[in-house]
Amino acid sequence: MRAPFHARSAGGRQFTNYTPTFLADAMLGSLARKLRVFGYDTIYLSDVKDEVVLRIGITQNRVILTCDKELFRRIVKVGASGVLLECSSDLDSIVKILCKYSIKYIDCESMNSRCSACNGLLVEKASSDITTQVPPRILKMHKYFLNCSDCNKIYWQGKQFMQIKALIKDVNYKIKKEDRENNSKDLVEKINMQAKRLSF
Ligand SMILES: [Zn+2]
Repeated sequence: MRAPFHARSAGGRQFTNYTPTFLADAMLGSLARKLRVFGYDTIYLSDVKDEVVLRIGITQNRVILTCDKELFRRIVKVGASGVLLECSSDLDSIVKILCKYSIKYIDCESMNSRCSACNGLLVEKASSDITTQVPPRILKMHKYFLNCSDCNKIYWQGKQFMQIKALIKDVNYKIKKEDRENNSKDLVEKINMQAKRLSF
């Protein structure tokens, strides 16, 4: 597959039904939170040495996400999996990453399965179980709540939920567009190669 948006990548796995897990480096906190909201197991490491990032990436079989060219060079050298991002926007980064792993769209169903703050798994809670953790006004307005099994944070479908849904729409649109462009580029390349062969 052609690398989208000038993405550079290492150690790509193109297995069918392969769901990648990620390790976001220090500059990518916002991206890590979004990937978690989309349901991807993503750890975020700030303030650790590159050696530690590499070691965890390899031992936990995680795709290392970075904007650091030097770190990416080391990822390639040690044979780990990684994606070098341009870090222009989270939207472009997400599209790049998902295209690399042949993920064609984000399913809204997978949303909110992980805590954006800590990567813990979320479980459904009845409003009667969380009366002391959520303001009464919110309890009155919402029926559906999720609770992080690790950090105990409570989530409900507020304004942020709508923003994430809009982002998913944008991501899915851009992936489709990227896919179409790559397919037409591949077709042009094939035609050019056939024309070259025929000219001999
Ligand atoms: Zn949490």
